[in-house]
Formats: sequence, structure tokens, C-alpha cells
Amino acid sequence: MADGSIRVTLIPGDGIGPECIESTRRIIDATGVGIEWEVCEAGESVFKKGIPSGVPKETIDSIRRTRCVLKGPLGTPVGYGEKSANVTLRKLFETFANVRPVREMPGVPTPYTGRGIDLVVVRENVEDLYAGIEHMQTPGVAQCLKLISRKGSEKVIRLAFELARAEGRKSVACATKSNIMKLTEGTFKRTFEDVAKEYPDVEAWHIIVDNCAHQLVKKPEQFDIIVTTNMNGDILSDLTSALIGGLGFAPSANLGNDVAIFEAVHGTAPKYAGKNVINPTAVLMSGIMMLRYLGKFEAAATIENALLVTLEEGKYRTGDVVGYNSGLAASTTEYTDAIIANFGRTPTTTTLRQYKPLQIPRISSDLVAVRPASRRVVGVDIFVESALLPGEIGPSLEALAEGTALKLKMISNRGTQVYPDKGTMTDCVDHYRCRFIARDPNADISDEDIYALVQRVASQHRWMHIEKLPEFDGAPGFTKAQGED
Ligand code: NAP
Repeated sequence: MADGSIRVTLIPGDGIGPECIESTRRIIDATGVGIEWEVCEAGESVFKKGIPSGVPKETIDSIRRTRCVLKGPLGTPVGYGEKSANVTLRKLFETFANVRPVREMPGVPTPYTGRGIDLVVVRENVEDLYAGIEHMQTPGVAQCLKLISRKGSEKVIRLAFELARAEGRKSVACATKSNIMKLTEGTFKRTFEDVAKEYPDVEAWHIIVDNCAHQLVKKPEQFDIIVTTNMNGDILSDLTSALIGGLGFAPSANLGNDVAIFEAVHGTAPKYAGKNVINPTAVLMSGIMMLRYLGKFEAAATIENALLVTLEEGKYRTGDVVGYNSGLAASTTEYTDAIIANFGRTPTTTTLRQYKPLQIPRISSDLVAVRPASRRVVGVDIFVESALLPGEIGPSLEALAEGTALKLKMISNRGTQVYPDKGTMTDCVDHYRCRFIARDPNADISDEDIYALVQRVASQHRWMHIEKLPEFDGAPGFTKAQGED
């Protein structure tokens, strides 16, 4: 803007949202940083007006203008809309990374007090099971596609390394389940190993995600930055917020190339709404992250120092820390006033990091990012709904494939080979994955070969989807069933 001020879209949100946002806005304004707030609606009130996304056009237009959002939590009222307005906002603006820092807060006692927890979970924010591609395969079998792209992984992994540099952090751990999901979680791990080579100044290591959860409870101080896929990050970051005193202290930033959305990890906590008792710190710390994102490092430090002094002194702490009925709890407004009154003071037990501007990675928007030198199709998986037993459907499919370019290799049920029988004790459902491979091991199976096979299978069985079995640069682009040779 001509006067040098910065515009930010402000969404008060639902439940305790408006109180948290009002507290944060007052504190930020009191620094004199000069933010022009564009107050916009999203969430419950919008759903109730009949807008199924929960986000009206005026709000989207404002975000397109300001490219920066500070928001309270949003609720989805029962009976309105199918999708969460939060997820809509994150996806609409391709905020591909969700950055969730936690640190030990003075005056907030936890079982970990004194251990110096100070870590960030960087969660991929768009892909994975959250792509929301779900299908009922049969009336009794549901499927959710777990989509992980090399490009989506690279963006968030680069951001994690850039964050390490911006915040002077020493290590980035990559948490995946690549030992089980070798292709999806494995893509994330392999991308991490490639990107890490470009950041030799930052220690890079991999940890299996279940052990990561275990280590976070046992020895959280060993972690600096953890980068991970969407679902893993969702769970790990709730765990990490519990380590430092709960959701009242857990901020987050949704970062993309064009838009950034800052919000607490917590939700609308409806039982506390309108009571002036909740802890606004998580939204306030999201606001501090926003100020740094906007390059307002001084205002961010003023607020963070004042917040830490307020907690250190312990005279004003909210009910989630000291107990709502203890008689010691400060109201949200008293706590807010105390923080403003502490502007200009520095904490005695905590020092702030030397923050530098974060470089958000820009990755080519080419549609196809990975091109193999060679590729071919070596077979096809046909998914069939059938009440037949494995010993009945197997011979039937073998007979149907006679005379085609493909032959039945095996059938699995719930991931385990059940035909040819390997003596497993799989409890079968009416959903079979039937794997056909090329009779000629050097063939590149054509679409016509597949259509011919599917037509034959369909003459006797109900199929619901097919997957080609690709080979890229000589390596199989599919995994084997349990028990498959
Ligand atoms: P929640 O709103 O986060 O509340 C769970 C509990 O966390 C509260 O009951 C309270 O614990 C504590 N808490 C949360 N925020 C607090 C704060 N600022 N100060 C002190 N304590 C706080 O989770 P939920 O009850 O599962 O979800 C409620 C609604 O929020 C749902 O509609 C959900 O969809 C929505 N939601 C929205 C977002 C978002 O907008 N980003 C995120 C998550 C959930 P005690 O009961 O122990 O005091």
C-alpha cells in the first residue's frame, strides 16, 4: 500500500475464535506495526446462509488481495456442508506446508518442564489421504486413495530445510512409514534424501513415524524440525502440542507460494465460547509467526518477549494453566492487557532465536515433473466384487484369460495372496484384487489387451476398478501382495 501499511484478511471464526482473534488483534495493533485488517466471514455463519463451502466469495476476494490471513477456528455445523471450511481454505490457496512449532513455555508446568523442548512439525498440507478421494468398492468395502507426489513432497521438504536455515536450527528429521508403504511414504523419504544433499549445513535423518511418536514422548528434546506427510503430521503435531501444555499454546502457519494462513492448532472449543476464559496464546503465537512472515521482526519480538515475561511472572495465566475454578485464573482480557503492559521487557529464562526471513521454495509449475527414460505396462490388477471362494474365482479367471495377452498371476484379499492357495488364514471379504501379468515377459501391454481381458472378466464377474502395473526405467511401479512371489 502507498502508506506502507500491510493488509491482512482477518477471520474471527466460530466458538472461542472471536475472543482469541480480538485479543491477538489488540496486541498486534498495540505494537504500532500498522496492519490494516480486512475482517471477513467463514465457517458456521456462512454454512447457515447456504454456501456449501463455508467460505464466501468476498472472503476469497479479500485473500486474493491481501495474500495473508489470520484466522480463528471454524466449525462445520451438523447438517450443513460436507467439507470443512478450513480444508477448503488450505486447498484453495495451495498452502502446501503446515508449520507447527512448540516450545517449552515458562510458567506452564508439564511433565517435561526443564527439558527445553523447542521443535517444529512441518506437515505436508494438501496430499496424502486428505486428498479425500474415497470410494465404496463394494457395499461393505471402502477405499481411500493415498496420493503422494514427488513434487508435493519436494515443496514441503525444501520448506523444512529453509525453515531450519531461517531459524538457525541444526537438524531436519523425516518421519515416514516407508517400511510398509514403500511407494507412497517411500516417495516422500526418497525425495527427502535427494533434497537433503542440497542443504549440507543441516543434519538430515530419517525416522519411522511410529518410533518418532515413541521418541517424542521419551526424549522430545532430540528433535529440531520434523518433516512428514499429511496424516502423520496431523497426529504427531497434536502429540507435540500436548508436550508443552496443550492446545492453548500450539500455533500454526499454512504456507504456500502465494498465500499464507495463520491459525491456532485448536478448534472452536464451544463450551468456553463467549465466557472470556480461554487462552488466546495459540492464536497470538500464530500472529507472531505472521509478523515474521511479513518481515515485521521487531514487532514479533516485542510481543513474544512480553508474552514470555507475562508467563514467567505467573500473575496472569489463563484457566487451562492454573485451573478454571482455582480462583487464580486471569480472564482472556486481563491476560491480553498484561501482555500489552509488558511490552519492552525481556524474559529472564528464555531467549528468542535470531530469526531470518524464510525463503519459501518455488518449484516449477510444469504439470509433469518426473519423466522416466523408459516405461511399459507389464500387467493389470482387476478389482472384483465376488461372493465366490478363492478356490472358485481363481480357476474361473484363469479360464477367462485364456487366449489373451495376460494370464492370472495371483489373487489377493485384504492385501494377502489367497490364490494360488499358500495356506494363509485370511478372513476373506467380497473384494478381490486379481493380478494378471503379460504372458510374454518382454511385452508392453496395450490398452486393447486390457480391454479384451476386462471384457472377458466382466462377462462373469462384477469388477469395480482396474490398475495398470507400470514399470518405469525397469523398476516395478507397484508393490506385491503379502505372500506374493
Ligand atoms: P478443540 O476445539 O480444539 O477443543 C478441544 C479441547 O482443547 C477443549 O475442550 C479444551 O480442553 C482445549 N482447548 C482448545 N483450545 C483452547 C484454548 N484456546 N484455551 C484453552 N483450552 C483450549 O477440539 P474439538 O472439541 O475436537 O473441536 C471443536 C470444533 O472445532 C469442531 O467443530 C472441529 O471441527 C473444529 N476444529 C476447527 C479447527 C480449525 O478451525 N483449524 C481445528 C480443529 C477443530 P479442556 O476441555 O480440557 O479444557
